[in-house]
Amino acid sequence: MRADQIPRRVIRCPLCSKGRLADVADYPDPLKMTLYGPQQADRAQMFLKCPKCGQQIGIFFGRTR
Ligand SMILES: [Zn+2]
Repeated sequence: MRADQIPRRVIRCPLCSKGRLADVADYPDPLKMTLYGPQQADRAQMFLKCPKCGQQIGIFFGRTR
């Protein structure tokens, strides 16, 4: 399967809801992700910077099953 054929989900900034942080594959096993703002950043495993508001968004990964 080519990358552009994989079902994907757009992860948007939880603070401004406009910034596109990343695309994640929904196939074959959807990632469960929890997004944290700057106040809870110590729980995150990965950080992305929102291209719109410039805030650091923390992400914690877990599997749905
Ligand atoms: Zn933002």
